[in-house]
Amino acid sequence: MPEKPEVITVAKSLERSLIGRKIQKVEVYYENIIAYPKVEAFQKELAEETIEQIDTRGKWLVFTLSSKILLVHLRMEGKFLFRPIGSPRSKHEHVSFFLNNDMEWRYHDTRKFGRMILYPKEELLDKKPFNELGYEYNDPNLTKEYLFTAFQKRHIPIKTVLLDQSIIAGIGNIYADEILFLSRIHPSTLASSLSKQKCQRIVENTKDVLMRAIQLGGTTIHSFSSQEGVHGKFQNELLVHGQKKCPYCQTDIKKIYIGGRGTYYCPRCQRVQRKKVKA
Ligand SMILES: [Zn+2]
Repeated sequence: MPEKPEVITVAKSLERSLIGRKIQKVEVYYENIIAYPKVEAFQKELAEETIEQIDTRGKWLVFTLSSKILLVHLRMEGKFLFRPIGSPRSKHEHVSFFLNNDMEWRYHDTRKFGRMILYPKEELLDKKPFNELGYEYNDPNLTKEYLFTAFQKRHIPIKTVLLDQSIIAGIGNIYADEILFLSRIHPSTLASSLSKQKCQRIVENTKDVLMRAIQLGGTTIHSFSSQEGVHGKFQNELLVHGQKKCPYCQTDIKKIYIGGRGTYYCPRCQRVQRKKVKA
């Protein structure tokens, strides 16, 4: 599943083909991809809109158009491709944007879990998902005090809390494992039990891991590639996720399931925290 670094790679890879292009019409072949508004309105409101800017927020792609904002979440397998207008369509291509350069910008998704939302610009910040997203990895407000306070109410494993987009936006399964490994925190540790010092390690490693992954274009794993011909290189830098031996102590990496998500950790570097007994 693409996480923040992969979504940024997608955004960058689309800029050259899309910025300044006008959308002439939109065809939707699988209606569930369009989460809001209704499909007819989605098609009508996108016609004649020009693509001005491409950004990300959390794991969402944010396309700024002349008067609207188009949000796209790729979920498991979503990706984009470009084809000359009228080229044969595969059964996995669910939405097609006809551009003013005789090209179709197509959304391809073998799992059909991806979602698109279209809002008027001025409504964006007050609505889902934007009003529910936590800080970005590089937001100065992401501090140990912020995490410590946010974690107090979460009597659940820290791994699960890192995946909760309302605290830090953009972290998924792979980077959560890497952040906890570098922070030397066992993934089952209850978030509410973490000290401010450990919150500080999470802040630093979140920034560090995501920044390095973004520089390398993200992680290419299994079938994920952000766009045709675009592959990240961070998979070569993974220390714990999907690995066999700990690079620091050579102990066998363990795989467990937390909240249904495959979770990798080093049993020696990430020991279970003993509860301090109050005297
Ligand atoms: Zn180790």
